[in-house]
Amino acid sequence: MERQNRQALRADPLRPGRSQRPPPDAHPLAAPSKTLEIAALVIGAGPVGLFQAFELGLLGVSTHIVDALPQAGGQCIALYADKPIYDIPGIKVCTGRELVARLLDQVAPFQPTLHLDQTVDSIAAQPDGRYRVQTCGGQAFLTRSIFIAAGVGAFQARKLHLPGLEVFEGTQVHYQAPALADAKGKSIVIVGGEQAALEAAADACDSPARSVTLVHRRDVLHADPDTLARIATNRSNGRLRFVAGQAHGFKGKARLHTLCVLDADEQEVALKLDQLWVFLGVSPRLGPVAQWGLDMERKQLRVDTASFATSAPGIFAVGDINHYPGKKKLILCGFHEATLAAFGAMQYIRPGEAVALQYTTTSTKLHKALGLG
Ligand SMILES: Cc1cc2nc3c(=O)[nH]c(=O)nc-3n(C[C@H](O)[C@H](O)[C@H](O)COP(=O)(O)OP(=O)(O)OC[C@H]3O[C@@H](n4cnc5c(N)ncnc54)[C@H](O)[C@@H]3O)c2cc1C
Repeated sequence: MERQNRQALRADPLRPGRSQRPPPDAHPLAAPSKTLEIAALVIGAGPVGLFQAFELGLLGVSTHIVDALPQAGGQCIALYADKPIYDIPGIKVCTGRELVARLLDQVAPFQPTLHLDQTVDSIAAQPDGRYRVQTCGGQAFLTRSIFIAAGVGAFQARKLHLPGLEVFEGTQVHYQAPALADAKGKSIVIVGGEQAALEAAADACDSPARSVTLVHRRDVLHADPDTLARIATNRSNGRLRFVAGQAHGFKGKARLHTLCVLDADEQEVALKLDQLWVFLGVSPRLGPVAQWGLDMERKQLRVDTASFATSAPGIFAVGDINHYPGKKKLILCGFHEATLAAFGAMQYIRPGEAVALQYTTTSTKLHKALGLG
């Protein structure tokens, strides 16, 4: 199976729905994909990582971006996709999702390559001055410049903590909805009450699944109006069964066949299943960043504010992951940092070349790069 989870950049808003989800990663122990020799690697596809790719694009540098999440957007998508932001310069108000869609649209002319669903595990300096970067998905890169835009850490799916359940992970238990074709004739139980869970439940109802059950601790569900309407329709026509309660156990040894749920009256409800899809949100794990040997302060990477360089040559840190006197964890501050980091990195990317500041308003070179004719 193709290990590399690469996806050409899309300019449309990335809703965490199945249609826009790349295929899940293959097993971490599978053979690595070919090593890519690249000019610049951005770690993190949050708002700052995306803008970093844009600023590098303006300087004629193409980028690869890696993110642990299955979609771009970082905290804006993972934590507050539908909440309003009021302090992006020039945009009176937009949601997290809308901001990410705009950033993707803005960077699209430079065609960065997104490697989603992959966590960067290691960065190792090479004798020739480059860095070898390895992801848990088996992808490796060789590059002279790295931009760490890792925010508060790599986002990972929150697991359903039922001892022993992990042995079914990837076969019967999924933390991202698997392909709908696999649902044919199956009984699917979905745990969660937010957008991703509800979207997956509504999609499963449209699939040839034998039965679909949604489990959430309370009968209070959160999603966009369209998805809530689909859920309501499927509940009222009996296609979707809803159970209010908490998963507290399972049955099955070689094969998982039952999820045990405690309902509001502390009564056990046994749900027969073939597939268990769990959507309990994501939580960040700083983990790998702290092990790359870079100077840190308060769990953040110490940087020089002239170029946002870290303690290692050619490695820059931008956005929520860095620390310097007066640091504010705001998106617009990250945008400034990414701009200076792009200029600062040119001495590693194109050594000896003078880099002139050009205005997007007037530079024909930039217009060409932006595809403006
Ligand atoms: C509820 C809430 C509301 C907010 N409202 C505002 C607001 O109104 N205005 C404002 O300016 N800011 C706001 N913020 C803060 C803002 O979201 C952050 O400052 C911003 O997201 C930082 O962007 P970033 O790109 O640096 O990091 P993030 O958005 O955190 O993105 C980092 C990405 O890096 C990935 N990553 C990390 N480590 C690895 C690794 N090892 N390998 C692969 N991928 C990795 C993560 O999965 C993540 O997707 C808000 C934050 C929250 C939680």
